[in-house]
Amino acid sequence: MRNHRATQLLFELSKSGRRGVKIPPAGVLAERPLESLLPGDALAESPPPLPEVPEPEVVRHFTNLSTLNMSVDTHFYPLGSCTMKYNSKRNERLASLPGLLDVHPYQPEESLQGMLQLLYDLEQFFAEIAGLPAVSLQPAAGAHGELTALMVAAAYYREQGQQRTKVLAPDSAHGTNPASAQMAGFEFVTIKTRPDGTVDLEHLQSHLDDSVAVFMITNPSTLGLFDKQVQEIADLVHAQGGLIYLDGANMNAILGIARPGDFGADMMHYNPHKTFSGPHGGGGPGAGPICVAEKLRAYLPTPAIVKDERGYRLEEDRPLSIGRVRSFFGNVGVLVRAYCYIRTHGPEGLKQVAENAVLNANYLLAKVKHILPVPHGERCMHEFVASGSELKKTKGVSAMDLAKRLLDYGFHAPTVYFPLTVPEAIMIEPTETESKETLDAFASTLFRITDESADLLHEAPHTTVVSRPDEVAAAKYPTLKWTPAPELRNDAT
Ligand SMILES: *Cc1c(COP(=O)(O)O)cnc(C)c1O
Repeated sequence: MRNHRATQLLFELSKSGRRGVKIPPAGVLAERPLESLLPGDALAESPPPLPEVPEPEVVRHFTNLSTLNMSVDTHFYPLGSCTMKYNSKRNERLASLPGLLDVHPYQPEESLQGMLQLLYDLEQFFAEIAGLPAVSLQPAAGAHGELTALMVAAAYYREQGQQRTKVLAPDSAHGTNPASAQMAGFEFVTIKTRPDGTVDLEHLQSHLDDSVAVFMITNPSTLGLFDKQVQEIADLVHAQGGLIYLDGANMNAILGIARPGDFGADMMHYNPHKTFSGPHGGGGPGAGPICVAEKLRAYLPTPAIVKDERGYRLEEDRPLSIGRVRSFFGNVGVLVRAYCYIRTHGPEGLKQVAENAVLNANYLLAKVKHILPVPHGERCMHEFVASGSELKKTKGVSAMDLAKRLLDYGFHAPTVYFPLTVPEAIMIEPTETESKETLDAFASTLFRITDESADLLHEAPHTTVVSRPDEVAAAKYPTLKWTPAPELRNDAT
């Protein structure tokens, strides 16, 4: 059943003169009229065209709107690569404690000691989990962490007097990798993936010379595979004087089990909003802390949080630093939640997170591969990529059709058409927070859908307020300004 009222704009509910509150007339006379208090051009000629709606209508409007989307609190959300695990409410509660919530970055350092200690300790945790000693919490998201680390690499080579112009990454990489490389001023080169999903070493070697600054690798990869050649790759790149960047978006699979610094990485980012259960979606905020090897420490953004005999303080004076990449200390709200998550789980708990994430993904893989082929999938890490290409050939049903139909059954759609190396890709990441019953229900629903008629699937979803928006037009030509329909304009006058 489509919910019509919830699709109306608040402006369309407006009726002239309706109010949430009526303010009683002031009992005192204004000493001077408003016009004399404000400079002439600061006064609007007419009041802003705000909707006039009573309180119950406003509350119903927004409450209804809040139920139209899917969320980790309402639905299974197997969005591959994004790690949409359930976020424990405990972290929300802790992050809302007044001592954490009500501090301001402009307060004097002496009065921010608790927050600085928390952030300092968090840096130590991140360093320990990464196996890389130097940390910056500043970047605002994973992609921003990539950019920051590549700027650190550029500064390092500049200081060494080396001209290195290229950044390489496999074709299965997230789109942010080439984008970050370009933005940091490097030329980007794509390295092929072999049919088994691992990096094509011959192709990599054919591009390795002293013009290569960084090889970026996502390990485990976006195909849900751990590339066991990673140490060998690191040796090859290091032999040419290059650096290894680990895209840490998939750390959920290896927390407490393998450390990037131990398998050859010189730099990495975390996505705390993925791995450490920060809330995400709807555009943020996220965070993208980076960890780097000791030789790169001097180039990290400032201010750095340092500890001395007087306590914690912010150090600005680092001549080799690339400077600031984000205001204040980064997205502290997300970082505090990551701190709570790490402290709550402890070292053993984090390891269990990874083990259960991998176990859940393999359980689901074992079921899904009988429904849709999984090209690289005998075993997987925290996620796997099924392919809808056979179904497309035999029935004309696309990965998009399957994803859209899942919404009708109360499941958030998996990631589709990524990574680009798998045709009709359907990327499924169940995460560790889901029960066996949920995974079973998802698999049997997927099975049922593949049996449904192509016509039904092409038109799906059938139960949501909006069925298939034009996503390209929505991104390219967003309607950001509301223009009243003619009949409403009449009503307003
Ligand atoms: C999510 C993701 C990114 C980008 O991270 P953001 O926090 O969204 O900027 C980069 N690489 C991979 C593999 C990812 O899954």
